[in-house]
Amino acid sequence: MKWLSNRYTYPLVALAIIASIGLQSAWLIQLFRAQQVQVKRDLDQAVENAARMSEYLSIAPGHENKNNFRNFFLSTEWLQFKQAYTGMHHLGISSRFESDIKDDSTRISITLRIANQRSGRSKARVISMFDDGETIESIKAADKKDLRRMDSLVRLECRRQNIQVKGFHLLYDYKTGKPESKEIWARARTADYQSRHFGYNLNFFIHTYQFVVPSITEVVLYRMRYYLVSSLLMILLTGLAFWFLFKVMRSQRLYTDARLAFTGNMTHELKTPVAVIEAALDAITRYQLMNDPVKLENYITISKSEIKRLNLMIDKVLNLEQLDNGEINLRPELYDVQQGLESVVSSMRLRNTAKNVIIHYFPSEEPCFVDGDPMHLTNVFYNLIDNGIKYSGPEALITLTCEPADDRIIVTVQDNGPGIPKMYHNRIFERFFRIPENLDIHTVKGTGLGLHYVKQIIMKHGGNITVSGEPGTGSLFIINLPAYHEI
Ligand code: ADP
Repeated sequence: MKWLSNRYTYPLVALAIIASIGLQSAWLIQLFRAQQVQVKRDLDQAVENAARMSEYLSIAPGHENKNNFRNFFLSTEWLQFKQAYTGMHHLGISSRFESDIKDDSTRISITLRIANQRSGRSKARVISMFDDGETIESIKAADKKDLRRMDSLVRLECRRQNIQVKGFHLLYDYKTGKPESKEIWARARTADYQSRHFGYNLNFFIHTYQFVVPSITEVVLYRMRYYLVSSLLMILLTGLAFWFLFKVMRSQRLYTDARLAFTGNMTHELKTPVAVIEAALDAITRYQLMNDPVKLENYITISKSEIKRLNLMIDKVLNLEQLDNGEINLRPELYDVQQGLESVVSSMRLRNTAKNVIIHYFPSEEPCFVDGDPMHLTNVFYNLIDNGIKYSGPEALITLTCEPADDRIIVTVQDNGPGIPKMYHNRIFERFFRIPENLDIHTVKGTGLGLHYVKQIIMKHGGNITVSGEPGTGSLFIINLPAYHEI
C-alpha cells in the first residue's frame, strides 16, 4: 500500500473533493431549475386567484350574501370560461358580453359573431356593458380603481404563496391584444416571469392584465436556502475531514521518519560505549594487564565511564517512556533554582575541561524558589546546558540567568551556537525531532529526546519553555516557572 499512500493519495483525494463538489453543484443546479418551475407555477396560481377575486368584487356590491352568486363567480370553471372568452378576441371574433344582475337571479349573455369570410375591414369588437348615465371619463376612473384593486390582490396572493417579489403589471388593449406601453412591454420581454392575460372586472372590457416579475432568482434561492447551506456544509466538512486526514498522515510520516532516525542514532550511541568496553576488556586479557596495575586501572576507569554513559542513555529513554505514559509522578518540594543551577554549572565545568567551554552564570540577588522535583529540574538544566555546549562547537560560551518576576521564576540559557531557524522553534520540542542537516546526516550525535523531556517536565510544573534566536545569533531558551508559595 506504500505506493498508494505516497504517490496517489493526494491526487485521489483532490479528485474525490472535486467529484463531490461537482456532484453537489449538479444537484443544486437541478434543484434550482425545479424550484424555478415551482415558483412560476405558484405565481400563476397567485395571479389567477387575484383575477378571479377582482372580477367577482367588480360586480359583488349588493350581492355579497348570495352564496350561489359568490360560488359561481369565484369558481375555476367560470374563470376558465371567461379566459377562453377573452382569448377569442385575439382570433378576430367579435363578441358581446352582457350581464343582468337582479335580486333573485343573474343573467349573463355572451354572443360571439364569427365572420365566415375574413374581410380586411372586419375588426374584433367587444360590446361592454354600460350603466345608464356613465361617461367615458367615469368609466376610465372606475377601471383605474379596479386595476389598483387587482394590483393589491396580486400582491396579497403572492404573500399568501410565500413569494416576496418585486413585480409590475402590463396592460393590453382588450380588443386588439396590443400592449398599452411599448417601453414596459420591452422590459417585460426580458423578465423571468410573465403571467397569462387576465381580465380584472366584469363591467368594462378596456384592458387585460399581465403580471411581470423581472427576476425570480432571489425567491428561488431563498426557497433553496436549507439545501444550499447543507450542501456548503457538506463540502466544508468533506474538505475539513480530508485536511485532518492529511495532517494526521503527514505527522504519522514525520513520526515514522523521526523514529527511524532515532533508531539509527540510538544504535550508534549504544554501540560506541559497548565497543569501547569490549576493546578495553579485550586489551586487558590479550596483554595480560593484570600485571600492569596502572594500565589496568586506566582501562577499568574508561569502561566504568562508558557503562555510566550507557546507563544514562537507558535512563533517558526509560524516563521519557514513563513520562509520555503518564507514569512519572513528580515529588515536588521547596527547590532553590539558583542552587540547582549552580550545582549543574559546576559539574558541567568539571566535565568539559577538555573542550574550551565558558559558562557564565548571573544569579539574582533575590531568592528564586519553586515547588519542584529536584531531580527532574536538575535534569532539565543539565539538558539545556549540555545542548548549548554540544551544538556550540569548540568555543562554547553559555550564559545563564535566573530571576524572579511577578510570581514567576525566569531562567534563561543563551549559547553562541548555530541558532535555531524560526520554523523549528516549536518542532524541536517534539519527540525524536532533530533539525535536519545535510540529508539528515547529523554531525552532533543525539537522540531527539532531550528537549521533549525538558518541555514535558516544565509543563508538569505548571510552567512553559520557549526558544528564540535565529541562525547566527545563537539560541536563547527561556523557562518560566511558577514561584513557590507558602499555603
Ligand atoms: P538531541 O539529542 O538531538 O540533542 P534534543 O531534543 O535535545 O535532542 O534537541 C532537539 C534538536 O534541537 C537537536 O537535534 C538540535 O538540532 C536542536 N537543538 C537543541 N538545542 C540546540 C542548541 N542549543 N543550539 C542549536 N540547536 C539545538
